[in-house]
Amino acid sequence: MSFAMQTIGLVHSCFREKFGIPRQSGLVAEARAEIEILPPFDRDEAFSSLESFSHIWVIFVFHQCLRQKWKATVRPPRLGGNRRVGVFASRSTFRPNPLGLSVVKLDGLARRQGHLYLQISGVDLLDETPVLDIKPYLSYADSLPQAVSGYAPRAPKAAGQLVFSAEAEAQCQHYAQGYPQLRALIENLLQLDPRPAYRAQTGEEGEVYAMRLLDFDLKWEVRNSEIHVLRLDSTG
Ligand code: SAM
Repeated sequence: MSFAMQTIGLVHSCFREKFGIPRQSGLVAEARAEIEILPPFDRDEAFSSLESFSHIWVIFVFHQCLRQKWKATVRPPRLGGNRRVGVFASRSTFRPNPLGLSVVKLDGLARRQGHLYLQISGVDLLDETPVLDIKPYLSYADSLPQAVSGYAPRAPKAAGQLVFSAEAEAQCQHYAQGYPQLRALIENLLQLDPRPAYRAQTGEEGEVYAMRLLDFDLKWEVRNSEIHVLRLDSTG
């Protein structure tokens, strides 16, 4: 059997490219996005009572992986990228059906110029991600503190000491009015060490990394095991 599904919404996210996005939801509270609900699903009554829930499940399509073939085994970054596990024992984006599932905080619902938006945070979603469904998170059913989580028993450790250059510090202050959480967002993202697992492992230092974040190119490097935030180049 195969099924046709409709996109009910589109994500507008602070993450404009795959590199640098947290590998799970809930890891960076300052990572914000909106889901723009598309017609004919953007009816107020379809979302009535949703605001009484603090968190929601978002079921979405890994739209930037559609052309890649799935593989029976994958190498999760969590295992240093050098041990294979079954695709169904992973949260890899390369799956037979490219579906993602994230729990995110629901910060509110807003209507602007006729469009309905769900404001969410703690996201691991790329900009323009198509959303297939939204469901309320039910703590009594969905939270299982005694669950055993295989090779990923807990959240990743903080990567290390973070140092902002004088230029990056000044830029965060300069943009603080439009982006009040920018510094904390950068700090918490880089603490997750977005470098490919093999790079992080070999401890290769001195290479400048860049990611598109909001309206900036964020540049950093790892030196003496410290993460140095170099600067934010505006892309606007
Ligand atoms: N929480 C979801 C899950 O478990 O299904 C996603 C986990 S997946 C490992 C998270 C990664 O998916 C992110 O770090 C980002 O690189 C990638 N990603 C997010 N949105 C995507 C999209 N629309 N298309 C392709 N890759 C995406």
